[in-house]
Amino acid sequence: MTGHRLLAAALAIVALVLAGCGAAGNRSPARSSAPDRSGASVAGAHHALASRQLAALRLPAHPAPRTVRVPILTYHRVHSFATEYTKSIPDETVEPATFAAEMRVVSRAGYRTITQAELFGALFRGRSLPPKPVLVTADDGYADDVTQMLPVLRRLRMVASFYVITGRLHEAGFLTPAQVRALDRAGMDVGAHTRTHADLPTLPLASMREEIAGSRRDLERVLGHPVAAFAYPYGRFDATVVREVRRAGFALAVTTQGGTTESSLASLAMPRIHVGRAQTAQGVLACLRAAGGCGGGGGG
Ligand SMILES: [Zn+2]
Repeated sequence: MTGHRLLAAALAIVALVLAGCGAAGNRSPARSSAPDRSGASVAGAHHALASRQLAALRLPAHPAPRTVRVPILTYHRVHSFATEYTKSIPDETVEPATFAAEMRVVSRAGYRTITQAELFGALFRGRSLPPKPVLVTADDGYADDVTQMLPVLRRLRMVASFYVITGRLHEAGFLTPAQVRALDRAGMDVGAHTRTHADLPTLPLASMREEIAGSRRDLERVLGHPVAAFAYPYGRFDATVVREVRRAGFALAVTTQGGTTESSLASLAMPRIHVGRAQTAQGVLACLRAAGGCGGGGGG
């Protein structure tokens, strides 16, 4: 990024903050200890903050073909099912102790969780990734993200991406805007998952745009910085939906299709590995090691 563009971006953020959109504080040690691949030489928390907040990840019009093997794990709820109070699907509720065991085993096996920016850098700029990279994701923006998942991730110095439904940010059981900012400050990625968890391919164009672009705007107002990541509700998308996701400014979007290879030519349709209730820590490890993952599935 040139000095001029950096300055312009910085001013834009200042304007956002002054407009009352909520400023993010300092980044956590977890994030700032992550490899900085921005190419700048300035070190420290301030730079980590700047590189993360100001550099919008924009899809190049004609990306060079490039693939990387980065398995992406999909979670929904991490919650004790016996105390379930929302209408969640059992297979999408992983017990807290099981989640902790899965993350521990993945970490001990040498896998390193990466951020959306690191994946973007690898796909579009040919940046190197740590050995055994993995992306941990959670859909739907349940409060569990902060109460159950975040403490485990912090303890193990891992990062994850959380896709939130912006129309539910004030509903019981879901993240509040303050909790979304807490995830962001803790070094996690927060992406959009539409406003109402709509079945996108069924919508008229205007509604589709409200769900996709609207959720990005909502989330950027909450976070005060650009949002690049998107997840398709129910994993449902078609060519029109993908076009609108691109048009809205997203650079990376995940599906519920199975697979472990990400491509610069299909960064808006990335496959994932569903982690269900019956999964075990060793099972998750086997999925990460399997050439094609363990298939997709799950609700998305
Ligand atoms: Zn969902």
